[in-house]
Amino acid sequence: MSIFDSSAVGRRAYRFPDLDVPEVGLDELIPREHQRQSPPGLPEVSEVEVVRHFTQLSRKNHGVDVDFYPLGSCTMKYNPKINEDMAALSGFNRLHPYQTENTVQGALALMHDLAGYLSAIAGLASTTLQPAAGAHGELTGLMIMREFQRHRGDEQRDEVIIPDSAHGTNPASAMMVGCRVREVPTDSRGGVDVSALREMAGPKTLGLMLTNPNTLGVFDENILEIAEIIHQVGGLLYYDGANANAILGMVRPGDMGFDIVHFNLHKTFSTPHGGGGPGSGPISVSEELTPFLPYPLVTKTASGYEFFRPAQTIGRVKAFYGNFGVLVRAYAYVRTIGADGMRQISETAVLHANYLMRRLQKSFYLPYDRHCMHEFVLSGMNQKAFGIRTLDIAKRLLDHGIHAPTVYFPLIVDEAIMVEPTETETKETLDRFIDAMYAIAAEAEANPDLLKDAPHSTPIGRLDEAAAARRPVVRWEASVEDEA
Ligand SMILES: *Cc1c(COP(=O)(O)O)cnc(C)c1O
Repeated sequence: MSIFDSSAVGRRAYRFPDLDVPEVGLDELIPREHQRQSPPGLPEVSEVEVVRHFTQLSRKNHGVDVDFYPLGSCTMKYNPKINEDMAALSGFNRLHPYQTENTVQGALALMHDLAGYLSAIAGLASTTLQPAAGAHGELTGLMIMREFQRHRGDEQRDEVIIPDSAHGTNPASAMMVGCRVREVPTDSRGGVDVSALREMAGPKTLGLMLTNPNTLGVFDENILEIAEIIHQVGGLLYYDGANANAILGMVRPGDMGFDIVHFNLHKTFSTPHGGGGPGSGPISVSEELTPFLPYPLVTKTASGYEFFRPAQTIGRVKAFYGNFGVLVRAYAYVRTIGADGMRQISETAVLHANYLMRRLQKSFYLPYDRHCMHEFVLSGMNQKAFGIRTLDIAKRLLDHGIHAPTVYFPLIVDEAIMVEPTETETKETLDRFIDAMYAIAAEAEANPDLLKDAPHSTPIGRLDEAAAARRPVVRWEASVEDEA
């Protein structure tokens, strides 16, 4: 029974004891014109009914704490609970951003050290923790690139080269800094078409945005040549670090030739995500770009930690100091994992992805048949012959209690199914996923209608996804009759 049906006039979760102090009149507390004239029309229920209401709502959600969540490009790995405990420490979560530096030395030390760890992982000189997400890191990075070129008197550069496999935020960020996007095609092995890149690069090139491994999950082994092409024409290389879970402790973007890197702390460094935030997208930059970083940065002096303003800063990109709680989780994660553990994360993530890819290849078409990194992209083309689309496969997976993979991305793969298992799952869970996918492939042949109506076991079946995104109903409102 819903909480709205179990409402009864006068039912309460708790009652206060009788007043033993003089009563203050309502008019003394709230001016009469601000007082409401009728009750708010909320359900009147007991405490246990409220608890059940919210617990039941939470069970209608899928999360990584519920079951497997192989959503490609999003790194939906398990986030160790100790990191939540650290972020909840009152010394962190009760800080006020207007406190003076000498009262927040611990927080500054954490920011200073985390920036240092991220610089080390990136293989670059310095890091700002301000951007609130990967996309925001991209925007910040591109603003720095433009400012750097302006200082060099190279203002004509307004083209950003981006592969056709890129995440949509890359071209969107380039447009936001007023640049033109040049799309470079993917070659037959899934990497950047180097000869096409060579033709595109020139005096108008601000830079190249690339993720490596890319969204096909393949590592571009031409990266050093690619970096040379861009640097030779005076451009810069931006690394979209959303796929960093594949390379931690193995290779540093700085060594591949990148000048700027963003990290999605909420993907790679243990902050729960998927519900819309808060996130964090720090960027690390090379020595020559360091003077342009947003302020404030944190520096360590003889007398303690201080904020400072880089000489040619592009200014602030976020209120205060970034999403601090996410920084605490990332710091706790890095410190508990350690340098050796970092490498193990990526080795295991890559092993899991290759295991799944090779076994699923038996039932699903694999367009780029080569060793993958932390994720891989299948195509639902085999199933299309039976009138089944990738969307049907994804929806049917929900009946197995498993979240759908990313679908129809990257755009260059027909009926794309992008799977990222992450390092935090057991072999038993991976095998259960394989069994579910085999079962769905068999159903596609034998009983396609079953897939077309899926899911059959979730609170809501197929919904109008455009309406759900554009006109979400996230708030209950008392009806006019209830008000009366
Ligand atoms: C998630 C993602 C982004 C954007 O990151 P947000 O933190 O969601 O803004 C950019 N590129 C790739 C490849 C991604 O997977």
